[in-house]
Amino acid sequence: MLFESTRGGDKAKTFEEVLLKGLADDGGLYIPTEWPRADITKLRECNSFIDIAKLIVPLFTESSYKKEEVMTLLENTWHDFEKSDLVGIKKVNEDIFIGELFHGPTAAFKDFGLQLCAAFFNKALEKNNQTAIILGATSGDTGSAAIDACKEYKNIKTFMLLPEGNMTDIQRKQMTTVNQENVFVLNINGTFDDCQDIVKSAFKDKSFLKHDQVLLAVNSINWTRIIGQICYYFYLCMKINNFSKQLSFSVPTGNFGNVFACYSAMKLGLPVKKIAVAVNENDILHRFFSRNLYKKELVNETLSPSMDITVASNFERLIYDFYLERDAETCKNFFDNFPNSPISLSEDVWKKTYDLFCSSSIGDIETTKIMKKIYKDFNYVVDPHTAVGLCVSKIFGGPINSDLVALSTAHPGKFLDSLKLAEIPTFEKHHTLSEVLNKEEYSYSLEADQEQVFNFIKRNNH
Ligand SMILES: *Cc1c(COP(=O)(O)O)cnc(C)c1O
Repeated sequence: MLFESTRGGDKAKTFEEVLLKGLADDGGLYIPTEWPRADITKLRECNSFIDIAKLIVPLFTESSYKKEEVMTLLENTWHDFEKSDLVGIKKVNEDIFIGELFHGPTAAFKDFGLQLCAAFFNKALEKNNQTAIILGATSGDTGSAAIDACKEYKNIKTFMLLPEGNMTDIQRKQMTTVNQENVFVLNINGTFDDCQDIVKSAFKDKSFLKHDQVLLAVNSINWTRIIGQICYYFYLCMKINNFSKQLSFSVPTGNFGNVFACYSAMKLGLPVKKIAVAVNENDILHRFFSRNLYKKELVNETLSPSMDITVASNFERLIYDFYLERDAETCKNFFDNFPNSPISLSEDVWKKTYDLFCSSSIGDIETTKIMKKIYKDFNYVVDPHTAVGLCVSKIFGGPINSDLVALSTAHPGKFLDSLKLAEIPTFEKHHTLSEVLNKEEYSYSLEADQEQVFNFIKRNNH
């Protein structure tokens, strides 16, 4: 199985090529040329998260690595989780489970994808005798997960651009308190979009790289992140009913990476009934799933900052595979002209939505209400992102009334102001979060100017 671009220009790429490249040359996103099938009989015999990963990950990597190599890599991939089996499951009542994905070192689900990515980056670099620079922009949890996942690999230097804006103190300090010589956190005097523009131009320019060095992307379009996330959908189903019954998943959504991982798990054979795409006031996806209109608007700052987006990059993969059934020409036409031209599908194509998806969008007041009610009625504390996802349950007037797994994407301890608003006095502590607040910060301040950023990288790239 190889990989192809959603815009048709880039075909038959290997796993390693896709891992190191990120975005395809034609601007599209990589996707497997055909969906592999997971072996449910073998999955039923699994006992742990790693057992599951060993059956899922090799389905995607065979074009570059031998199965035994991947097995060895997976033994050491996920680290510093506070639960031995990585994922927690909380049964809220007869109808709802919460899938706790925040037990990793940075207290958000992004550790699953980025630790797998980092392990494969390191493997590819060692094999090819190269080193790498990672340059990313973050408005929330991607930066901390990428820094943490890569910091122990000496062949990788990470430069992370932080915009001014709506990050919590703890989210920022998770990045700025990392004191390692291969990690550089740059406070940029500009917006998230300014930071993204600098990253994009860096991928065109690359003048700051040494001859045996590659530039790597860690944003959520990286296919290997999706693989890491597919694993926990199978794990949750294994634990909850051992694949005996369909489950619905509610996914608090920003860039659509996590939803696409759920969709991919279904294509691999996971019994999925409904996927609920849950967003905050930044509702471009809700507008598409409820009204067939995918149109960029301005960003709103909310209590769930990791979902404050204006476009959802991974959505292109769903349009390509699910709606357009791999008609690359039409897909290219849509996305080459987006956001200038908003996207609307023909009505009979868009109607497929009802087979699998539902969507919801709520504001901060409702988010806080849900946090409060879950605390009062079930004595359980959820973070604001998780609360946005829970609104699809019938308890809160949503459409899903049974067998719901609500994904909890972040630990509540990252969002102390929201806990105050919801009048939640206590919560179970996370193993890394409390110490972060008292550590010293190491960061640099730069203007939102690409020359300044490139020069900074050059000076620190020895
Ligand atoms: C990144 C993030 C999301 C959004 O995930 P996507 O894959 O971009 O949709 C949701 N919640 C939290 C806490 C996050 O960090």
